[in-house]
Amino acid sequence: MIYMDHNATTPVLPEARAAVMAALEEGWGNPSSSHMAGRRAKAIVDEARASVAEAANARPQQVTFTSGATEALNHVVWAAGPGRIIATAIEHPAVLAAVDNQPDRTIELAPVDRNGQVDVATLLDLVTTGERPVLVAVMAANNETGVIQPVGQIGQELAELGVPLLVDAVQYIGKLPIAFACDFLVATAHKLGGPKGVGCIVTDWELPPLIDGGGQERGHRGGTEPVPALAGFGAAMRWVSTHRMAESERLAELRDALIGGLTAGVPGLEVVGADAPRLPNTASLLLPDHAEPADVMAQLDAAGVCVSAGSACHAGSARPSRVLTAMGVPDHRAVRAMRLSLGHGSTAAHVAAVTELLVKACS
Ligand code: PLP
Repeated sequence: MIYMDHNATTPVLPEARAAVMAALEEGWGNPSSSHMAGRRAKAIVDEARASVAEAANARPQQVTFTSGATEALNHVVWAAGPGRIIATAIEHPAVLAAVDNQPDRTIELAPVDRNGQVDVATLLDLVTTGERPVLVAVMAANNETGVIQPVGQIGQELAELGVPLLVDAVQYIGKLPIAFACDFLVATAHKLGGPKGVGCIVTDWELPPLIDGGGQERGHRGGTEPVPALAGFGAAMRWVSTHRMAESERLAELRDALIGGLTAGVPGLEVVGADAPRLPNTASLLLPDHAEPADVMAQLDAAGVCVSAGSACHAGSARPSRVLTAMGVPDHRAVRAMRLSLGHGSTAAHVAAVTELLVKACS
């Protein structure tokens, strides 16, 4: 199998697997118990929190663990209170649907340009016109296109206006250092080599709990902590802090080789967001009109190559991606989207094999 769908999820790193297993063996106590078994479990949770904080350029006290990014984003949207929320047109459904489901919140979408970058001037116009927003949501990098958003600039402008900023850093934090300021930063373990079902909100704010219970997580989230999953999250984040820059350089070289080989071998292939800064691991492509996307996907699948038609959320549906539509890609082109995303297991041999297969499938 050749796995090129790391933006959907990543294989678990050996270090994370080892930490999960060790926590299952030794960290089975309840972290809230004051006896030895409880203290051992709490030490694991504390270590994980410190590792997540380091990778997020934050303090451990700022980290609230959640069941993943979807819960974290829902929580921030809900906690922002009733009122106006501004989001980019390319935010994840975990933000957009969370607003739609709250009758006392309204959402306005800031457009993106043809490269998939948010138009900062229009976003700020929306923020400063009309009722003051309770929250602005801008993802650090888009999961479908890999296009990086100007969150640093937006963070500075919003801080001056006193308007809180939520940054979905799910796709970004594993690849690039967090060098911007925001009020809420969200991440999830399974996109960076950790287990599924665990994520975090990084914030200084006091949040009303979305899940009431025994006051865990500074009172932000009730429920006994999933100690093994947190151990895996922490180990994956330690790997990220140590290897992020070197790994990103390696992936960018592989990604460039992949795109170079494909554009040379497949006439009419289009690279989405080609003129914008992008994550080092993501190649978002529009297949040429003569290639039938379903046939190409079937050929890759038969050869054991895992890629995504658009984002995982769109897999199985022929609807054009909302993100590509927001970028002005016409429907008949948007349904030809294919996303190849690399990660820690990707090699030059994978790139060569997938290039050859795709060139043949599109000929
Ligand atoms: N935000 C982005 C940008 C994502 O790519 C995803 C995962 O698809 C999520 C949020 C949701 O993360 P989780 O699977 O942890 O709920």
